[in-house]
Amino acid sequence: MAPPGADARLLDVEGLIARYPVPRGLLGAVMRRPQLTVKAVDGVSFSVAAGEMVALVGESGCGKTTTAQTVIRMVEHQGGSIRFDGTEIGSLNPRELRPLRREIQIIYQDPYESLDPRFTVRDTIEEPIRVHSLVARSEDREAKVHEAMERAGLTPPELFIDRYPHELSGGQRQRVAIAAALVLEPKLLIADEPVSMLDVSVRAGILALLDGLRRDGMGVLMITHDLSTAAHFADRIAVMYLGRIVEEGPAREVVRNPQHPYTKALISVVPRRDPDQRTVPQILIGETPNPVNVPPGCRFHPRCPAAEGRCKETDPELREVVGLDPLHRAACLLL
Ligand code: SF4
Repeated sequence: MAPPGADARLLDVEGLIARYPVPRGLLGAVMRRPQLTVKAVDGVSFSVAAGEMVALVGESGCGKTTTAQTVIRMVEHQGGSIRFDGTEIGSLNPRELRPLRREIQIIYQDPYESLDPRFTVRDTIEEPIRVHSLVARSEDREAKVHEAMERAGLTPPELFIDRYPHELSGGQRQRVAIAAALVLEPKLLIADEPVSMLDVSVRAGILALLDGLRRDGMGVLMITHDLSTAAHFADRIAVMYLGRIVEEGPAREVVRNPQHPYTKALISVVPRRDPDQRTVPQILIGETPNPVNVPPGCRFHPRCPAAEGRCKETDPELREVVGLDPLHRAACLLL
């Protein structure tokens, strides 16, 4: 959970819904095929406090990246509320959103694509300062760029500042992307699979950097498919399946005592060093999730090893589990 003294609810998302139509194509339109809809985010609620790292965990296609993009209004939502630092931002127009865009920054999984190959490190980190008209004098801009680079671990800055992306390693490129976010001094950083494209040898350094930012008081929303990373670094974990959070709670609680069959399956395939903690890997069978055709009842029932007849009819709510930490909640009819 958030460390003592952390502000409550920097980001507060309630009942978020994001859907988009599947293109029918010319033939589909001529044939008048029904319009299908991707239910990418289907009633998601979570919060992030200042000084807290929350991990949204799940397989590809579960809606975690769309959730993050909806929070920053890159993707429009059709329902629910997004409160940031006490302000409802879900209904703001682009002009009203502009100052808030400084305060919520996102870094992407692919530092090879997120940097412009024509820009030096200085250009890349200076760009957001110019876009937001933050500092007029070039000496002050340079000082801000140096400060952000040092915070992102690109030290000494002189060594990197005039380099182009192709002259940097993958880890250094991700640090440049982080520095370009930090130069705006955001309150919330969204990290979308921040290490999945990096060599294993540099992942720990980037994760330690994010951990340090969290300790300095920044809220961090980490999107990841890697439960072991989430367990190690996050304060809280929210497990997503087909557009919904199916289990959430303090990271240690969720990992040590998973309640939802989906979380149990994810945890069963995480490699463990301690032989006493090893479990039999539980490979999920059945169709892979399809957010166009969400199954009725519990959306996990076609793949759930514990499913019963009622699971096909009743959609379980996320709720407290008797005898557990009240912040540990799961959506399963058997609990
Ligand atoms: Fe499995 Fe039924 Fe629980 Fe859903 S409600 S997770 S199908 S046991």
